[in-house]
Amino acid sequence: MLFPIIFFILIPLVVWIVLHTVSKRREKQNPTEQIAMEECALCHEEFPVDELMEKEVGGYSRVYCFCGGCIEGLYREYKAKREASIDESGN
Ligand SMILES: [Zn+2]
Repeated sequence: MLFPIIFFILIPLVVWIVLHTVSKRREKQNPTEQIAMEECALCHEEFPVDELMEKEVGGYSRVYCFCGGCIEGLYREYKAKREASIDESGN
């Protein structure tokens, strides 16, 4: 009487639990692999696409990606250059 219960209920249950945990483990591992990465046009480091700014550059509709660090760096350089030219004209 006990054998059919084990055979028809417990074994499929154990198989289902094993398959379920294996598929959950795969779901946890995959998202990091599936994030689309793109290279920054200035520093050539790779970043997730949603952390980059895409800008069309030049007349050939080429789209380049720029990371936040490079954009901030450019802004700081531009600001320093502008302040230097204002200082020069002020003297
Ligand atoms: Zn960059």
